[in-house]
Parts: sequence; C-alpha cells; structure tokens
Amino acid sequence: MPHTGRYKSLRFRLTISYILIFGLLLTAIGITFRTRLMTIIQERVEEAVIEDWSAARGFLKVEREQAIWSVDPREMDRTVFLERLRRFVMVADAQGEVLEMSNGYRQQGVESAAEIRERFREGSPQLVVKEQGKDRVLLRYGVFRSEGKPYLLVVGRRMTDVEGLPNAFLSDYFTVLPLLLLVTGILGWFMAGRALMPVNKVAEAAQRISGSNLHLRIPRRFANDELEQMIVAFNTMMDRLSESFEQVRRFSTDVSHELRTPLTAIRGQLEVALMTAEKEEDFRDAIVNALEDVDRISNIVRALLLLSQAETGQLALHKDAVNLSEVVAELAEQFRTTAQESGVELEWNLDEDVYILGDRTQMDRLVTNLLSNALKYTPAEGHVLVEVRREMATGSAILTVADDGKGIPPESLPHIFDRFYRVPGEDPDKGLGLGLSFVNWIVKAHEGRLDVKSTVGAGTTFTVTLRIHQPEMVGDADSIPVAEARQ
Ligand code: ADP
Repeated sequence: MPHTGRYKSLRFRLTISYILIFGLLLTAIGITFRTRLMTIIQERVEEAVIEDWSAARGFLKVEREQAIWSVDPREMDRTVFLERLRRFVMVADAQGEVLEMSNGYRQQGVESAAEIRERFREGSPQLVVKEQGKDRVLLRYGVFRSEGKPYLLVVGRRMTDVEGLPNAFLSDYFTVLPLLLLVTGILGWFMAGRALMPVNKVAEAAQRISGSNLHLRIPRRFANDELEQMIVAFNTMMDRLSESFEQVRRFSTDVSHELRTPLTAIRGQLEVALMTAEKEEDFRDAIVNALEDVDRISNIVRALLLLSQAETGQLALHKDAVNLSEVVAELAEQFRTTAQESGVELEWNLDEDVYILGDRTQMDRLVTNLLSNALKYTPAEGHVLVEVRREMATGSAILTVADDGKGIPPESLPHIFDRFYRVPGEDPDKGLGLGLSFVNWIVKAHEGRLDVKSTVGAGTTFTVTLRIHQPEMVGDADSIPVAEARQ
C-alpha cells in the first residue's frame, strides 16, 4: 500500500478541520457572550444611577445655601441607603459654587465653576462616563429646585468593579479554550479513524487484487451507506474486468492453439519439398498445399477477430424490424443446390411475415450457420427441415433447424457452443468450430433462447426463440415504421 504522508492523510486533515471549526466557533461564542454581558451590565448601572439620582433628590433640600439631607434616624434602612448615596455626590448652585461634595466624588475630579454653569445651561438630565486613570465612573447630572432656586445634583457609581466581570469571564474562557480544543482534537482523531476504517479496508482489499487473483472481492458490510455503494460498484467493476481478462486469456490460448496445427503443417510440407522435390511440379504441389493452409489460417483469424469484437461489445448491432420468414426463405433457397449435391432433402415450412427486432446481417449469419451445419453433418439421403413459427400465446418467433443426421454425443453437447470445439473425430476440413459460438452470441445479443436436442444416429434439432416484433402491425409489411425509415 502506498504510504500516505501523516500530514496528508484524510484522518489528519479531518481532525485539523474539527479543531479549526470548533476553535473559531468557540472564540466567536466567547466574544459575543462577553459583549452581550458588557451591554447588559452597563444598562443595569445606568438604571441604578438614575434611580440613585431620584432617591437622592427625594432626601435633599437646600436651605440658606446649605444642602440638607432629611431622613428619620429611626428608619435604619433609609439611613443606610442615604449614607451609601452620599459617598458619591455633589451639589452646586447656579453660579458654580459647590455646596456639598463627597470624598469619593472629589477623587474622580471636580468640575470647574464654568463647567458647572454649562451643565445648568444644558438643563436636561445627562448621563456621562468619566475616566480617571483606570477608573471609569458613570455620573448622572440633573437640575432640581429648592426654595425657588435651581441647583445641580450629581450622583455617580463606579463602573470599573462591575465591568471587570465580563473581562474576567473572557480571560478564564480563553484559558480553558486550548484544553477544550485538545479534547476536540483527540475525539476528532478517533472519530475520523473510526469513520475511515472501512475505507482503509477497501484500499487493502483492492491492493491484494492482481492479475492472478482477479476473483477476489471486497467483503460487503451491508451498511447501506456511501461506502457500501462504493464497494458494490468496485466489485461489479471487478466482475467485468475479470470477465474481459478471462476472455483475452482464452482468446490468446485458442489462437495459439489453433494456429499451431496449420503452421506446423505448412512448415512440414515446405521442408519436405525442399529436401525431396525434384521437379517443378513437386514444388508447385507443396506451395498449393501450403497456400490452402494459409487460407485456413486467414479464415481462423478473420472469424476470431469478428467473434472477439462481438463478445467484447465492439460489434454494433443495427436493430430493425426483420422479416424472419423472408430471411429463412431466401437462405434456404440458396442452400438448395448444396443440399442437392450432397443428396440431402432440404425442406422449409414457414409462417408468413414473422417479424422480429434484430440485426439483419447477424440474422443471416445465424440461419446460415445452422443450415450449413445441418447439411454438413447429415449424410446423403438424409432430411433437413427448417421452420419459422409464430407463437401468439407467448409472443415468440420460433426458428427450428432439424436434421436426421449423425447427431451429437451427449458428452459433447455442453461444449458445442465453445470456441473451437468440435466433436472429437470430426473431419478437420469441415469447419473451425466457431460457427455455433457465433450463433450463441447472436441469440444472446437479441435476448433470445437457444436450445439443442440431439440423439446420436437419429439427428439434431436447434431451436431459436426470439421475441416477436409488434405482432399487431406485421400484417402489412409497409406499415412497419422502422422498415420505412430504412428506405
Ligand atoms: P464447425 O465449424 O465445426 O461446424 P460449429 O461451432 O458450428 O463448428 O459446431 C461445433 C461442433 O458441433 C461441430 O464440430 C459438430 O461436431 C457439432 N455439430 C454442430 N451442428 C451439428 C449438427 N447439426 N449435427 C451434428 N453435429 C453438429
């Protein structure tokens, strides 16, 4: 298995993605949370200062330029409350003269008389944040009247104490964050490992498959997920691959085997001629014999090429409505002379206009092969009967080629459709053993069925069953659209 670099592995990259996504997400959450907390706290402080101002206003009156806070000393709560209020307070008159100022207020800085007068002019209540070094103070300015004169009352609260909270939260949060990310990374690493385990298994299985063990398949997991689909697709691809591989292997074995015999024959004839021939005629004979064998080789090569093209799907079929009855009638007519010459009686019995959807050239080849076989393997005074029947019940077109010739031995029957198979003892000049391989392929390519029945000494019957093409329209050949399109 090719080594996957640690930093390029899917597992590593997935884990890094987890960590990055979580890191970004958690940082965003932390910052949003802090901002929100800060806003809420500021709002609360503002509300509290406004309330403080109103409360202070309730306790305060000015008599003879003196601020007087009136509360009944017996009311403990209010006394304590007022004391807290007065820790951060300032009262001034309209000329900018300070009437009262707490120590806390003084520390955060005192306004000049001009500033105070400015506040009087603005009049309406104001909230102001003042910064004094590290301290932040929220002040509430407001004008009130006492004994008919306007006075300025300022109440404040220190914000720094409460504002520390969100910042403390944020710093705690960011201290814990790397730990969280570490845990995420570890979890992510294991999760990615688990998720990718089947992928690694598939890769290992694929790695084990080579030319010599193409039958190996990746075990299925029956998980019904994407990976399962990949395994199924991979296995199907392997099926096709091993089939093609097997075909190529068979093809080369067949070819070398079949070509060896005629080649040896040619070599023998030519060598003998070279050593023993004396007259020109002897040489000529040897050459003629050799040429016959060369012809045989050419035939084999041509037929094999065609067959292998057919089996590997490179031979395109042009399917049209084909009148099977007509095809058989024409070919039977052509074979009549051959039959007569070999003393065999050839008869045909055809239902009219039985149409199928097929390739005309291949149909010709199919019928020719079956007919020529029947005539080849039937001795003189034998009979060959060709029939085309329409079977409406099953929608089938049935072609039978029956002879009462020598028949095929039962042990050979399963092999007659194999390439180059010939029943042992058969005259080598009679054929190449490829005809029935073609017939078999043509029937398959037309999704039909091929049956054979044979009894030694009694004869052989080949039956081809194909699907009828548009049976309701076959009455009139001209009405078949495909046939029209071809003209
Ligand atoms: P061949 O070129 O030898 O005819 P085929 O593939 O057409 O090759 O047939 C394979 C073998 O099947 C033949 O060699 C022959 O022995 C046998 N065979 C085919 N058709 C018949 C038949 N009608 N009667 C007897 N034997 C047959």
